[in-house]
Amino acid sequence: MNIALFGPPGAGKGTQAKELSKHYKIPHISTGDILRANVRDATELGLKAKEYMDKGELVPDDVLIGLIRNRLTEPDCEMGYLLDGYPRTIPQADALTDILAEINKPLDAVINIEVSDEELVKRLSGRRSCSCGESYHLMFNPPEKEGVCDACGSGLYQRDDDGEEVILQRLAVYNEKTKPLIDYYGNEGLLVNINGAGAVDEVFRDICNVMDQHK
Ligand code: ADP
Ligand code: ADP
Ligand code: ZN
Repeated sequence: MNIALFGPPGAGKGTQAKELSKHYKIPHISTGDILRANVRDATELGLKAKEYMDKGELVPDDVLIGLIRNRLTEPDCEMGYLLDGYPRTIPQADALTDILAEINKPLDAVINIEVSDEELVKRLSGRRSCSCGESYHLMFNPPEKEGVCDACGSGLYQRDDDGEEVILQRLAVYNEKTKPLIDYYGNEGLLVNINGAGAVDEVFRDICNVMDQHK
């Protein structure tokens, strides 16, 4: 199953991808998580990416295209993959098409999670994250023990880019650079819209209904 989860920042891509990856036993490939791991380890890539991430800007396309090419050619993608946060620009989507043709794993569907701007701001401002990739929400999805990850027991933190001002910048960047991909994948016949406003398990069920068609 070859799937891309698509949607604005805060739509619930990461939350859903974690569960879907377990359910369908395909790797969850989050470019945001890969970049943050590089920032944490202070790699050359991480140092370069951090400048953009802290401002709510996109990291340059050439960096992301190299990163996703390396990741998709790893052996665990043999049975499929679940992309989260890539592609975010038209050049990234074009490069993805080429890479997937080379490895003979074209996309089955692009699942677009739709959520209103008002709700996105609420979700992002209350988000609390874990270095293991899990994310929680102070009100909508609190961990069992305050400030502690249910999955791994580490302490939760607020992402540097989840402050009010950077949130608004990320939404603006989404509208300008990423949203055009809705038409791009619509024209390819790959786009499936999902209402992301419901509870986590409702959205999960709706996405499974789409993914089950591609088993
Ligand atoms: P994305 O990866 O698309 O940026 P996340 O999965 O990190 O989004 O979700 C953003 C925030 O919203 C998190 O705090 C998460 O716990 C919360 N969240 C995710 N899905 C829902 C939902 N269906 N209802 C309410 N809150 C949600
Ligand atoms: P979100 O919760 O906004 O969906 P992500 O964790 O996916 O956030 O991404 C965080 C940041 O990492 C982005 O604001 C951007 O700076 C960078 N990033 C992640 N994926 C990409 C990408 N495909 N292209 C460019 N930058 C990216
Ligand atoms: Zn954790």
